[in-house]
Amino acid sequence: VALCEAEEAPPACSRPHVGESRFNWKLFWQFLRPHLLVLGAAIVLALGAALVNVQIPLLLGQLVEIVAKYTRDHVGSFLTESRHLSTYLLILYGVQGLLTFGYLVLLSRIGERMAVDMRRALFSNLLQQDIAFFDAKKTGQLVSRLTTDVQEFKSSFKLVISQGLRSCTQVAGCLGSLSVLCPRLTLLLLLATPPLVGVGTLMGSALRQLSRQCQEQVARATGVADEALGNIRTVRAFAMEHREEERYGAELEESRCKAEELGRGIALFQGLSNIAFNCMVLGTLFIGGSLVAGQQLTGGDLMSFLVASQTVQRSMANLSVLFGQVVRGLSAGARVFEYMTLSPCIPLSGGCCVPREHLRGAITFHNVSFSYPCRPGFPVLRDFTLTLPPGKIVALVGQSGGGKTTVASLLERFYDPTAGVVTLDGRDLRTLDPSWLRGQVIGFISQEPVLFGTTIMENIRFGKLGATDEEVYAAAREASAHEFITSFPEGYNTLVGERGATLSGGQKQRLAIARALIKQPAVLILDEATSALDSESERVVQEALDRASAGRTVLVIAHRLSTVRGAHHIVVMAHGQVCEVGTHEELLKKGGLYAELIRRQALDAPAPEVPR
Ligand code: ADP
Ligand code: MG
Repeated sequence: VALCEAEEAPPACSRPHVGESRFNWKLFWQFLRPHLLVLGAAIVLALGAALVNVQIPLLLGQLVEIVAKYTRDHVGSFLTESRHLSTYLLILYGVQGLLTFGYLVLLSRIGERMAVDMRRALFSNLLQQDIAFFDAKKTGQLVSRLTTDVQEFKSSFKLVISQGLRSCTQVAGCLGSLSVLCPRLTLLLLLATPPLVGVGTLMGSALRQLSRQCQEQVARATGVADEALGNIRTVRAFAMEHREEERYGAELEESRCKAEELGRGIALFQGLSNIAFNCMVLGTLFIGGSLVAGQQLTGGDLMSFLVASQTVQRSMANLSVLFGQVVRGLSAGARVFEYMTLSPCIPLSGGCCVPREHLRGAITFHNVSFSYPCRPGFPVLRDFTLTLPPGKIVALVGQSGGGKTTVASLLERFYDPTAGVVTLDGRDLRTLDPSWLRGQVIGFISQEPVLFGTTIMENIRFGKLGATDEEVYAAAREASAHEFITSFPEGYNTLVGERGATLSGGQKQRLAIARALIKQPAVLILDEATSALDSESERVVQEALDRASAGRTVLVIAHRLSTVRGAHHIVVMAHGQVCEVGTHEELLKKGGLYAELIRRQALDAPAPEVPR
């Protein structure tokens, strides 16, 4: 409890993250540690491949030397003399290929395993976050941390180890050979390199920025399509297909412009770097050639020099690309790790449970005040006091936006009160195990039930993992759902579509009731459970609810007052406080807010139902 109270004061979502968070090296180390052995092997193989690459230019030079000798002298057998060297080169090529194969396989193994571990850890930690966290975040962004960011981090990691290690070794090794072969030429080459690398890096960073803009634009276009397809019913109902088409088209057009710009940039970069590389080759040949002519260098050494300098240049180009990749990988990693270390104020489990036979189901709100963490200055409940006696039905009525659902959320412990306590059988909710509370004590049925895109059977079983088929049937019968389910050709194995889209509102609601009843909850919360239904389904669902309410502590939230007449107590809420309590008759007699609400609804009643 102390922990909860200590963390209560600064709500996590009231301080928005400004800028990017830092990369968490410690966490990264934890993911890397199980793979250190394999990583070591990969590094050794990669270094080996790089060292072989450094050898190759020198051997090629020697081969050219032999060729040159035979073009001059034409004595002896070229084949016998070169056979040794060629065989050696062939072996080196083979070894190089094998080493490359080896380290790439090892790296991909490490990368994939780390990605799986990271996704698991992130998903598990996301699932544990407070509801307040999800109020403040967009689902799409959370999902993209699981997918795109992990992907990006993984490929950066692999690239850094393979390319980075290889390029650095090759640059160092080849520079060494160069300076041995011809110090003067090496010096000239070193002088020419920094300006070229500088220009290349500048262009590269401009291109990367452009590429990021491209990706963002593509994401924006995808967002438009996603929203339209996800809300196709609303789009259809407003005949907005054409407008959505245009919106998507405009975003696509924008992204095409950006992508073409990027394409032109890349083309320019490639063209210029080709010219630069070729000029370097020509320059080396020219200056080196004059050295050969002056007998200061052999032709073979010049050949070695050319190949080695090409290796240096290619490696440097790789390194500059790699630098951008490292930056992107680190920021992707930072996004992945950010939510891995976030701990919720309300843990998922931990605390005491009350054995079922001792559970009475008495609930009290003692002077509870509450404002949502993402709207701290806006009090929703003020000094709210309410008692739900065990086994009784209490109705909570009041205007829309008055805080009724908030009361239910506090009871489910989606949030903790800002002040005051909520108790179950006299115990502070904060001392109880939240997963026991939600999973076994409270059944919650809301206005818009959300089903999962699987079978009816699985949806009902969601309320109690490991429930037998018999238990599922019993719950469905109790919720008046068995009949319509068995009327489907596939029965309990009928797929309900995404979010239950293939069922009617009343059918969905009855499945939701079955899902809540299967856990045999001691406390039932009905939050406007029938208000989205037509009057025929309302009658069926209401019957099921009345049956389910017997013997349970029930909180009925309703704005349609006809549904709460039978409640033992009716509580009228206004401005986040309780303003009247009593039975239907008492409150009518009192002539207060409730009587006024009844009078208004009676006036409205004859009018046809207006869809909201
Ligand atoms: P009711 O169920 O009585 O219609 P609610 O409890 O849903 O009312 O909402 C009470 C007030 O709290 C409203 O002003 C609403 O805007 C605000 N509110 C509801 N849910 C949230 C939330 N998740 N974050 C911030 N404010 C919320
Ligand atoms: Mg509500």
